[in-house]
Amino acid sequence: MKVMKFGGTCLGSEDALDRVSKVVQAEKDSKIVVVSAASGVTNTLKEFISKPRQEKEIDDLLLALRMRHIDMLPKTEGQVRKEALDLIEEKMTKLERLLYGVTYTEELTPRTNDLILSFGERLSVIVVAARLTDEGLNAIAMESDAIGFITNDHHGNAVALLDLCEKNMGASLDSAIRQGITPVVTGFFGTTQNGHVTTVGRSGTDYSAAVIAYATNAKPVEIWKEVDGFMSADPKLVKESFTIESLSYEEAAELAYFGAQVLHARAVQPARLKGIEIIIKNLYSPEAPGTTIGNGKQTKKDVIKSVSYVPKVATLKVYDTGAGYKSGFLSDITNCLASEGVNIFSATTSQTCVAVLIDENQIHLAKRAIKSIIGGVGESFEIKPGVALVCTVGEGLGYTEGVAARVFKAVASKKVNVDLISAGASTVAYHFTVDNKDLKKTVMAIHKEFFTPVQNDAD
Ligand code: ASP
Ligand code: MG
Repeated sequence: MKVMKFGGTCLGSEDALDRVSKVVQAEKDSKIVVVSAASGVTNTLKEFISKPRQEKEIDDLLLALRMRHIDMLPKTEGQVRKEALDLIEEKMTKLERLLYGVTYTEELTPRTNDLILSFGERLSVIVVAARLTDEGLNAIAMESDAIGFITNDHHGNAVALLDLCEKNMGASLDSAIRQGITPVVTGFFGTTQNGHVTTVGRSGTDYSAAVIAYATNAKPVEIWKEVDGFMSADPKLVKESFTIESLSYEEAAELAYFGAQVLHARAVQPARLKGIEIIIKNLYSPEAPGTTIGNGKQTKKDVIKSVSYVPKVATLKVYDTGAGYKSGFLSDITNCLASEGVNIFSATTSQTCVAVLIDENQIHLAKRAIKSIIGGVGESFEIKPGVALVCTVGEGLGYTEGVAARVFKAVASKKVNVDLISAGASTVAYHFTVDNKDLKKTVMAIHKEFFTPVQNDAD
């Protein structure tokens, strides 16, 4: 049994929806389908509740959502379409009540926020299950909160409680599969043990799919997308880049965290715990092998597998002449940043300075946080925007001598200055910062160094 996950863009057009059906029908073994909201729906809901609204606006939003999902239904009149229409109506009524509640009370708690955002997936599973059933499969839409996708209570970024998921969800899904049903399950959200809906973070359906595979012992997890898989570099920057056939869990996690948009970084964790392979597949060329992520997927022949990047980061440096001797200095800084919700990409320290990399969009929050501790913790600070984080990833980094020298020589040959370097924390990745304006030539230089075939002099 496998898990097949389809993201929002796979549900974005009639053609894409047809392809989803074909791919699912072609799978003869039993399968669990996990889907995101149709593209743009979660954003629309999020934007809608971000400010006070008039009643009329609620009606307009609901009408647009209703029409969008009805349009996605199978066109054949009959029982399948009728039942799906009823289910859509049921969801619309609930969503309407929630939105009126928020509008009248002018209050949006993290709990209500998550509940409202979950409606994108609640609607999309109805559509996908109806299409599959219309084409002869016995598919049923299932909502993850109803079948026991249990998480902690960290609203907006919840973590699945894997043992409980296995106990609850495993049983409900197994029994459906035994009856010949193909479950179509909502991604992105679950529920606390007390029954409050939680979301697992934006683009979190990859993670949901991996949790569901863990809970049901399904393997592999296929993540269907509109690209072939992980690439050796962003094709927008390096036209010679190519698809990577296989990655270890660590390599995939580092790449996903540092910029590759192919997979949600958190999806790796539940999969790795049970040795479940994750395969990235292209909806537009299903016969292509894609990228397989799993154990024993380290190939020694490639020293590095990929170079990724995060543009628009900022370096925050906190200075203190005695930093190296003050216990708790680093944690004071990271704690105060965490209290403002600032995400730290990476940290390096010296005797007189702690430097952390943060998202450029969070500079104002970081400033506020750090200002409140300067004097007590740290003598002064400095924030440098316009920085890019470059990450080279490969199991080979850990056991091949001279790799760092090759990376930095390639970068230096383009006269690019490297600022912060972080290596050693991960055995499969180095990362460092350069000026944003030097990003493209840096990535190109590294790609060329490692991926251009060496010319044989005798040729
Ligand atoms: N629909 C959610 C989002 O847009 C989850 C997902 O797409 O994976 O963030
Ligand atoms: Mg999405």
